Amino acid sequence: MDQARKLIRLAVFGSPVKHSLSPRIHQLFAAQAGISVEYTATEISEDFLSREVQKLADAGGTGCNITLPLKNRAFQLANRFSERAELAQAANTLVFNSATRWTADSTDGPGLVRDLLDNLHVELKSRRICIVGAGGAAAGILYDLLQQRPASLCLFNRTIGKAESLAHRFSEIGRVETGDLEQMTLANPFDLVINATSAGHHGHNPVLTGNLFGPQSLCYDLSYGAAHNSTRAWCQENGIQCHDGLGMLVEQAADSFQIWTGFTPDTKPVHQALRTLL
Ligand code: NDP
Repeated sequence: MDQARKLIRLAVFGSPVKHSLSPRIHQLFAAQAGISVEYTATEISEDFLSREVQKLADAGGTGCNITLPLKNRAFQLANRFSERAELAQAANTLVFNSATRWTADSTDGPGLVRDLLDNLHVELKSRRICIVGAGGAAAGILYDLLQQRPASLCLFNRTIGKAESLAHRFSEIGRVETGDLEQMTLANPFDLVINATSAGHHGHNPVLTGNLFGPQSLCYDLSYGAAHNSTRAWCQENGIQCHDGLGMLVEQAADSFQIWTGFTPDTKPVHQALRTLL
């Protein structure tokens, strides 16, 4: 196949996606690979996801990303799954094997773990970790965090049932303790606190509470750009070291790109280029 001439059609679906950095990231990866990529961002509600994904597949698309709040619905559209997507019942990456046979995968977990371990040099093994939020992103990172064998992993969520359901599904990989936001206020400090809520997108104050942090604790906010502002400000006020999710965004995108094209991008220059835009 003459890859230089073939146009690879990709897209991201979600809401909000207007300011998504994914089209830019994938163009930078495509330039590294020397291939032509068309990557569009479509704002969409759950009711229309199936129709729009089908349109892309019918147009000869290679696959797509799905972002909040549609990762659970995206999983249901596929007829084949990776193990981590199946446990999460959520997917951020679909591959069109044909117009009607789609494989669901989740690259959020490998992306986060690579950013923490390789880019930020944060230890995960034998550490006390908590995740706040139990939506599609939390579901997508549990598998890979548990694989790192933390001392404990606790999942807090406003809707406790969602956290409990995730803990139950992942019990074959490792133990996940759960609590609601009131129980969260009684927890002892963690080494790593991961904010996996979407509260920042709505300009809400972070859901995080001071008791979660000791002097050495680190906060990793999955959000980036404007959605990270409230968490960054809260961490600054409280003297807590904090990272945004831009590194994870680039790393998870690299895994999706690899799945679609077979090319493994160099993430470092892409991360640097995007950082100058935020
Ligand atoms: P979902 O819509 O699936 O889940 C949202 C979660 O946030 C739910 O647990 C929800 O609680 C909680 N939440 C929202 N608002 C509030 C609030 N005001 N108070 C308390 N809890 C709240 O979103 P995703 O899981 O897909 O995404 C979560 C975040 O992670 C987003 O900011 C997204 O941009 C980011 N993300 C970043 C990635 C990266 O590569 N850096 C990759 C994936 C996601 P409840 O269940 O009670 O409704």
